[in-house]
Order: sequence, then C-alpha cells, then structure tokens
Amino acid sequence: MADVSTECNIRVLCRFRPLNQSEILRADKYIPTFQGDDTVIIGGKPYVFDKVFPTNCTQEQVYNTCAKQIVKDVLEGYNGTIFAYGQTSSGKTYTMEGKLHDPDGRGIIPRIAEDIFNHIYTMDENLEFHIKVSYFEIYMDKIRDLLDVSKTNLSVHEDKNRVPYVKGCTERFVSSPEEVMDVIDEGKANRHVAVTNMNEHSSRSHSIFLINIKQEHVETEQKLCGKLYLVDLAGSEKVSKTGAEGAVLDEAKNINKSLSALGNVISALAEGTKTHVPYRDNEKK
Ligand code: ADP
Ligand code: MG
Repeated sequence: MADVSTECNIRVLCRFRPLNQSEILRADKYIPTFQGDDTVIIGGKPYVFDKVFPTNCTQEQVYNTCAKQIVKDVLEGYNGTIFAYGQTSSGKTYTMEGKLHDPDGRGIIPRIAEDIFNHIYTMDENLEFHIKVSYFEIYMDKIRDLLDVSKTNLSVHEDKNRVPYVKGCTERFVSSPEEVMDVIDEGKANRHVAVTNMNEHSSRSHSIFLINIKQEHVETEQKLCGKLYLVDLAGSEKVSKTGAEGAVLDEAKNINKSLSALGNVISALAEGTKTHVPYRDNEKK
C-alpha cells in the first residue's frame, strides 16, 4: 500500500475482530492486548505492524488509514493493491466489502467507490475520466469472470508495457458510486449462483475487484492511467493435507501454494533490495 509517511511502498496493517457469538457462547477469552498504535501482544510476545486496529475501531477509521491515500495515488497515475489476508472468519470480507449498503457498515470497496467520484467532482474540469471496473475470482488457478458466467477460464497476458492483465475479462464503464455498487451486487449474485456453499467457496477462492481509472486532459491530451486491485484472499488457515483426498486435497495444495508464492513476492518487495521478485513462482507445478 502506498503511504506518503513511510519510505516503504508496502504496509501491513492488522485488524482484530470482536469475539463472535459462538466464541462468546464457548466462553473464549479475548487474548490480544495493544501497545501504542502498532503493536499487539499475544501470549506475552509483541508483534509489530505498521498499524494495528483493535476490535472497537470503525470501518471509517480502517478506510482512512488503509485506503484513503491509495485513492489519491491512483488518481495521480499510480497502481495500488489492497489485500485482505487472514483465516476464514477473521473479517476479510467484512473489511473489504462490509455491509455494502449501510453507511456506517460499508467496508473499503464501497468507500473507495465514493471517494473516487468525490475527488473527480473537485478536479480540473478539463480532465476527462474513464473508469472501468472488473470483478473476477481465482479458484484452483482458474480465473472466472463474475460479470459473465460463461467466462470460466480466463488467462493472464501482458500488455505492451509488460503489465499483466486478465485477457477477455468483462469491463464495465461506471460513472457514479451507485453504478460501482450495482456491479458488485451483480458479481456477488453470480458468484452465489455458481456455487453450492458460498461460505466454503469464498474461503477457498481469491476474489478481485479491479478499478481502472484513465484520465485525459482535453486540451493538452496528456493521459494518466492508474489501476487499483482490491483483493479478498482465500482463507490462510493451513488446510491439512493429511486425511484430505481428491478435490479437497487439490484445493488445499492450491491455496497453500498461491498464498506462499504471494508471501514471497511481498517479502521481496518489502525488502526493497532484491533484484529478483518471484512474481511467477505460482505458475511452477
Ligand atoms: P472472512 O471473510 O475472513 O472469512 P468475514 O468478513 O466473513 O470473514 O467475517 C466473519 C464474521 O465476523 C462475519 O459475520 C462478520 O460480520 C463478522 N465480523 C468480522 N469482522 C468484524 C468486525 N470488525 N466487527 C464486527 N463484526 C465483524
Ligand atoms: Mg470472506
């Protein structure tokens, strides 16, 4: 995540959700304690992040710290990505989407949609904006278009600048936050129809909402392009390979492999000194 206040262009923020109903019924204890705004203490050991969010923090606070600056950066022509990583039921979807149509409960994606247009309304009138969104998921290494259910196995290509993109993926032009929300609702409905158990499925697939912003100055014809990837990853729990068979074993291997490849990429980028970033390691079988 881009942040003007740090040298590093990757930030890791850690959010803690409150105990849920079954945890309360089980009389689970809430263990983490917090120190400053970047340290959590669990079992006497401190863990330091760029920022920690205790259970009482609001969706708005999370948005302001995690995403607000990235929206500005993308409007200046940079690319950005926000990943939600964590075990199933840890609050990834709550953080990324939240209650989509509730002003307080809205998560990062709907707030970004609104913020983008708020910025645009205040920008130079000579700038023309073209905003497109795509919505797809990756399950078992296959990319499925959530806006066109007939596209179940899309492939990743590189454009002339060697920037990867999903070839043939549906792109919807949007001109208001409401239109972005309609696209999200449509994609989510398609996803529900395609699978028998949505909770299980979403814990085993990565979902990606892509916002592509192009702007052109009507007089100078100067162009800027920024992409924002908003990713709700598959559950990070180590799916046990022992005892699992067939499809379940394949899923487990796939999730573990893709999340560990992603972890290696992020470590290499965060270190900032590595000449080789293993972007393509997940392709190796
Ligand atoms: P994940 O996507 O990681 O599997 P969810 O986002 O679906 O997990 O969250 C699991 C449950 O916990 C949901 O019912 C969600 O509403 C609730 N939840 C998650 N985070 C919070 C939070 N910060 N505050 C209140 N409830 C939360
Ligand atoms: Mg989820």
